[in-house]
Amino acid sequence: MGATAYKGRFAPSPTGPLHAGSLVAALASWLDARAHGGKWLVRIEDVDTPRTVAGATERILQQLDACGLVSDGAVVRQSTRSALYQSALDRLIAAHSAYPCCCSRKDIASALEHQGRPRHRHGELVYPGTCRQGLPPGCTPATTPCAWRLRMNDLEPNQPPALVDIDNTATNTIANSTIHWNDRRLGAQLQDVQAEVGDFVLKRADGCFTYQLAVVVDDAAQGITHVVRGVDLADNTARQILLQRTLGLPTPQYLHTPLVLGANGEKLSKQNGAQALDTSSPQAALAALAEAARRLDLPTGTATDSVAEALATWVPAWQARCQQWASRLSAP
Ligand SMILES: [Zn+2]
Repeated sequence: MGATAYKGRFAPSPTGPLHAGSLVAALASWLDARAHGGKWLVRIEDVDTPRTVAGATERILQQLDACGLVSDGAVVRQSTRSALYQSALDRLIAAHSAYPCCCSRKDIASALEHQGRPRHRHGELVYPGTCRQGLPPGCTPATTPCAWRLRMNDLEPNQPPALVDIDNTATNTIANSTIHWNDRRLGAQLQDVQAEVGDFVLKRADGCFTYQLAVVVDDAAQGITHVVRGVDLADNTARQILLQRTLGLPTPQYLHTPLVLGANGEKLSKQNGAQALDTSSPQAALAALAEAARRLDLPTGTATDSVAEALATWVPAWQARCQQWASRLSAP
């Protein structure tokens, strides 16, 4: 196999403008692409249409632009790509790897209680497999709004996953539903998806495709080789690798950046009222970028009033960080 050209992406959800936390992920993914001589794409993750805020996409793109972070290709919007997601789901359904489910959250909670199983992980409900053998009597996809779930127990154990053939520091293996994967910064990770999540939802009963399915389909369709994103999304990686494996798609390399905490010690997010970044002037954009660079432990002492110059000085610094992470992880 020949070398695969590096392709990275930044994929914000347009639930509001960029804040200090999302700029860290944007800057890290951009620097990683530049440090590898690769391409950097912006993808708008507006697959969850009820949560999309009008005008947020335009605002985010304008903020990125002010920070000198410009997509190397057309900006892709998930809301226009339902046909792709449906075709991936249809493939899974045809392979009996997806099944309809009409359980409400209440049904799932009471099934778990009945089985004497405790709630897992931040109170998230592990799906107990109620509809895996078929929908309950009187419930059909034609008459009841059904979600579609991935059937996990059909996976063959110990199959080598498809890997991208660039800087292959990752050894991703799957034994049953346990996914082992390597984060370029955090090192070896694992999750038993069956035990901790259960057969997860690919398409919701309201017709929205889920983040997991859309991301996996888009990363493959766009040829993404490297995913750099906030560590709050690290928890999704095992599910995404499982889904890539089931769909026969390559697995990119993953790097999760540190979280930015607010004054209250909680993760900065649009949901807890993080302030929109001020990028109204070049000075404001530069200050926002310098703050993001500081969060990534990059040198910020260089006196410059140019966004482009600041970005250029951080590329070699990021390259050095990448080498540190790689040598630390390969050390015995
Ligand atoms: Zn169900």
